[in-house]
Amino acid sequence: MQLLKKKILDEGKVINKDTLKVDSFLNHQMDIQLFNAMGKEFKKRFRDKEINKILTIESSGIGIACIVAQYFDVPVVFAKKHAGLNMGLDVYKSKVYSFTKKKYYNIKVSKEVINSNDKILIIDDILANGNAAKGLIDICNQAGAKVQGVGIAIEKGFQKGRRSIEDLGVRLESLAIIEGFMDGKVVIK
Ligand code: 5GP
Repeated sequence: MQLLKKKILDEGKVINKDTLKVDSFLNHQMDIQLFNAMGKEFKKRFRDKEINKILTIESSGIGIACIVAQYFDVPVVFAKKHAGLNMGLDVYKSKVYSFTKKKYYNIKVSKEVINSNDKILIIDDILANGNAAKGLIDICNQAGAKVQGVGIAIEKGFQKGRRSIEDLGVRLESLAIIEGFMDGKVVIK
């Protein structure tokens, strides 16, 4: 997606050998015109799939997922990393290693909001090794829900996320694929 690729090249900051900072348009300040364009693009790419719910993970997936959901006219569920007591105990959970925090979380989704009738599109901001997406797929599997695909804004193609999702038989669509970082600059496919 050209608009997203231009944003990454213009505003993305390489902060170490495998991490990109995109706080000016995706992870902190959010460019809603860009999000709308991404929503439209995901709707186009998954137009052949019946989807009745979007699933994401807190926190940086939520903004994108909400805009994407408007194009599918469906609700959004986000898996919680910091569930309070009000969530109750009747939950699906999965252990996920966080790429940015370098620690494990138990992500949780209430059994009230996802079930075996659901046909789910998983949405997230950035794909690295695929742990967040795999955790969300695991939760869908526990609920008996069908995973119709994973939609990612920015895929780092030099990490193993794509392989780990496709190995589970799940379709992956990314709007921009980063080939690597060279001399502190992003190289895009
Ligand atoms: P994964 O689970 O695929 O290893 O990592 C994906 C999650 O970690 C995403 O939810 C994303 O927010 C975060 N993440 C992974 N790589 C990066 C990165 O290069 N930059 C930023 N800002 N977040 C990342």
